[in-house]
Amino acid sequence: MNRPFRRRKTKALWVGNVQIGGDAPVAVQSMTCADTRNVPETVAQIEALENAGCEIVRVAVPDEAAASVLGEIKKAIHIPIIADIHFNARYALMAIEQHMDGIRINPGNMGKENIADVVRAARDYNTAIRVGINAGSLEKPILEKYGGPTAEALAESALNNLALLEDLGFDRIKLSLKSSHVPTMIDAYRIVAAKTDCPLHLGVTEAGTLVNSAIKSSIGMGVLLYEGIGDTIRVSVTGNPVSEVGLAYGILRALDIRRVGPDIISCPTCGRCEIDLFSLVERVEKALVGMKDDLKIALMGCVVNGPGEAAEADVGIAGGRGAGLLFRKGNVIRKIKEEEFLEVLLEEISEITRNKRNI
Ligand code: SF4
Repeated sequence: MNRPFRRRKTKALWVGNVQIGGDAPVAVQSMTCADTRNVPETVAQIEALENAGCEIVRVAVPDEAAASVLGEIKKAIHIPIIADIHFNARYALMAIEQHMDGIRINPGNMGKENIADVVRAARDYNTAIRVGINAGSLEKPILEKYGGPTAEALAESALNNLALLEDLGFDRIKLSLKSSHVPTMIDAYRIVAAKTDCPLHLGVTEAGTLVNSAIKSSIGMGVLLYEGIGDTIRVSVTGNPVSEVGLAYGILRALDIRRVGPDIISCPTCGRCEIDLFSLVERVEKALVGMKDDLKIALMGCVVNGPGEAAEADVGIAGGRGAGLLFRKGNVIRKIKEEEFLEVLLEEISEITRNKRNI
């Protein structure tokens, strides 16, 4: 089948050791919700994000105390870190001088002279800059011109701010244009994608709790990614940021853009199901958090359709009465008791991943 998917050509930039844009895979980012001033808590959260597969992390810098511990945090972690700064150019300079891999700013909010200092420092320290445009903080003249935070308004602000940095001779830039209104976000990115080859960081802002965010992010980012737009993504969730990483990889996997981590297929169950499939799926999902191997696992309620419908799965279980059939690639291996499901499945998974890695 002919897919419309073809990645838009963008300039490449490096955020620490992660390439964004060019021919690099779409990178997965997240942001801590711990108080940045609390270094142990922030580092612990970043470690959990790293383990879940987060490739770049962002931390908020709300005040000088937060700005002053950035270097300490960076020394304790293993993935590139971006300092998120609003308005205050001094915090941006502090972040750059503590070797942050990137800063996220809205240059228009910092004043022309200040931004020249920030750009100079970013050039000296090899710091990437994300120009982060947000529907909630657009410049007043643009808001007046468009009558509100429309897609055109977001795009104009982004392109103006991009030009501001480029005029200062700086090009290690990526752009984001976030809105909590999904159609606005999609249109804004489309407009900008047609006008610049600057790499784009996708996100739907204030997307809500897990289910709401999964819906909004999948639609907003999914539409754009399917059109080849987007070089790095962050799903935002009100809750533990570790869930953002799983959702982000889920979106990329669903579009066949990147296959990282297990793909768990499970049936909705019906009157034929005679095992506790709901709890099995939950336990399997929990046991496999952070797994990076690309593996298809099928958990099906019954043998009527199970192995056949999930013939593509690397491994799966199809339930019977208090028992089930273990199958690989549609072929039944053996019958197992319901109480053994999780243990046997995890053993199978670890054998398959070991074999895959040795190939
Ligand atoms: Fe029902 Fe079996 Fe299909 Fe699950 S696999 S929905 S239990 S028929």
